[in-house]
Amino acid sequence: MSNTATVRRSVVLKRRPNGSPRREDFEIIEDAIPSPAAGEAVTRTIWLSIDPYMRGRLREQQTYAQAVNPGEVMTGETVGEVVASADPRFVAGDVVVGARGWQTHSVTPGDRLTKLDRHGAPLSAYLGVLGMPGATAFRGVTEILQPKPGETVVISAASGAVGSVAGQLARRAGARVVGVAGGAEKCLWVQDSLGFDDCVDHRSLDLRAELLACCPNGIDAYFENVGGMVQAAAFDLLNPFARVAMCGMVSQYNEAEFPPGPNLGFVVGKRVQIQGFIVSDKPEKIAEWRKLAAPWVADGSLIYREDEVEGLESAPDALAGMLGGRNFGKLLVRVGHDVK
Ligand code: NDP
Repeated sequence: MSNTATVRRSVVLKRRPNGSPRREDFEIIEDAIPSPAAGEAVTRTIWLSIDPYMRGRLREQQTYAQAVNPGEVMTGETVGEVVASADPRFVAGDVVVGARGWQTHSVTPGDRLTKLDRHGAPLSAYLGVLGMPGATAFRGVTEILQPKPGETVVISAASGAVGSVAGQLARRAGARVVGVAGGAEKCLWVQDSLGFDDCVDHRSLDLRAELLACCPNGIDAYFENVGGMVQAAAFDLLNPFARVAMCGMVSQYNEAEFPPGPNLGFVVGKRVQIQGFIVSDKPEKIAEWRKLAAPWVADGSLIYREDEVEGLESAPDALAGMLGGRNFGKLLVRVGHDVK
């Protein structure tokens, strides 16, 4: 953990998980912290982000991004401190964000690192509200949902890293916003702290009836993070010309085979627009989002919540917990101490 450490620890995939990932699917290996080659920097990890997409990387079949193979270090985004650099753009002590891995130290080409202008926000925020998840919400809401004053917008996984920002953006646009989250505590926070107009517990016995009670005028825009039963209830209540941002379907990530899809006949009759998107298709949007949202984070008008676990070895359990809804807010692993 210190800047004088010589040993690096890495979490390596041992075998592909069957269902929910388990600690035994991974192993921790140690080697010497490498030296940077020309154009590279070595960073000490401070924060590791745990994200639902990581389950897709553990599959044999490739999703939209390359799979992690047994024997390889698990992929993940980190905030870290440069400890050695052979890239003139970085010096020891710089704080950087980049797509590195589940490791205490990483060696990375400099062009895959972004030096952080901290804007006064805590470093962890650059993996959540001011990072990839925040930018995902920004793209889904502004490019696809485009909510208008008075419209009803439904956000699934509403207490999570993406959903919490998406709902607040839709509220800023003047829409009535209804969240869907797992359990009373999350729903209370979504309403009381994030300011959503309503929130439905997806574990409720009659989800469709509860969603209808919160959306008496139907749904004009739906931010899809979950799939499954939540999707079925939301799709059923879509209004003519509704927009759906297909961001993710976390309820099925642990399934060996994806379930058969819904009957999409209503898309024609109701002229619904359903659009999938991947945040990394427009990497420049992260910087744009950071610039826009940093003042909102600083003045407290954009609320976010983080769920921290301690130590690199906790990462596999943290991922499994997230896929079961046990995180409450942006899930992060504290790997090393803050910059001094
Ligand atoms: P979250 O912080 O929202 O954590 C995941 C949450 O999913 C859990 O806390 C849980 O919340 C919910 N969940 C898990 N299983 C179920 C289930 N069976 N039914 C309903 N809800 C469930 O994660 P993120 O905000 O990081 O990600 C949200 C979504 O956005 C994911 O689908 C992810 O893949 C997607 N995503 C897509 C990107 C893109 O580029 N398209 C980029 C980033 C994320 P609860 O307790 O409320 O059920």
